[in-house]
Amino acid sequence: MINIGGTMDLISIRRKYNNIRNIIIASFIFVLFIVIMLIITEQIKKNNYEKIYLSYVNQCIQADELKQKKAEEEEAARQEALKAKLPELTDEGKNNIANIYHSDTKRVFLTFDDGPSSSVTPLILDTLKQENIKATFFVLGSRVELNPEITKRAYEEGHYIASHGYSHVYSQIYASPQSVIDEYNKSLTAIRNAIGVQEYNPHLFRYPGGFSGGKYANIKKQSVQLLDANNIAHVDWNALTSDAAGCTTTEQFLAELEKTVPKHNSVVVLMHDAGSKKATAEALPTIISYFRDRGYEFENFYSIIK
Ligand SMILES: [Zn+2]
Repeated sequence: MINIGGTMDLISIRRKYNNIRNIIIASFIFVLFIVIMLIITEQIKKNNYEKIYLSYVNQCIQADELKQKKAEEEEAARQEALKAKLPELTDEGKNNIANIYHSDTKRVFLTFDDGPSSSVTPLILDTLKQENIKATFFVLGSRVELNPEITKRAYEEGHYIASHGYSHVYSQIYASPQSVIDEYNKSLTAIRNAIGVQEYNPHLFRYPGGFSGGKYANIKKQSVQLLDANNIAHVDWNALTSDAAGCTTTEQFLAELEKTVPKHNSVVVLMHDAGSKKATAEALPTIISYFRDRGYEFENFYSIIK
């Protein structure tokens, strides 16, 4: 009995022992499982972080590349626009100038002489911008040197910057045929420096006081050969507001225009943007309406000298 009792005890001790061992093994496996899971989770997290980081880096690189590509495209477009703004006087252009007062459709060239001035030219540019009209400025080199920023603005806003010589002093510019060219070149240097485009040449000149007649008529005539030789065309006008000949009100300007405009399909209007011509700037919206009401399209010399 004692032996049996002893055996029973032994069996129950062994069973107990087995249970504890099983619990320990199970616990160990459980802990091991948790640890493995943790390691796997960490690894996944790490991989994810790496992936996120790499994709962030890639995005940054792509953004940089896009930025650079955009900058390159913008520069190319700027160069293209610049090139488009480099007028070339070809036979077609010469022919266009010869027929400047003839056109099948109604067109008008607004032209402003003797500027730029700090008091009037910006007002004119504001109106032209508002009305979405491109005009032509026959600038004086001496004034360009005083107002390079305004010249640049006019150029960059798509207006045609042509030459009206340098000094506007008749005794100087018409001292000889050569001095006409000298003044053209001097104004050209001023324009180029102002707009920052050394290749620019409008190939277009307007004689101070107009081409025909006057005390210096012969010098002017003789200088045409030199202009031709230098591939420079010249143009006058066939309508004017007389803003440099005593007219000072919008009504007077319109009355002056009415004298010649109805006779022409193709109109080149002479106006001035010198510092004293505030009345011209003030009248400009009405002058624009005058031409719009009569069915004229606005052009500048980019459509003539291409
Ligand atoms: Zn003038």
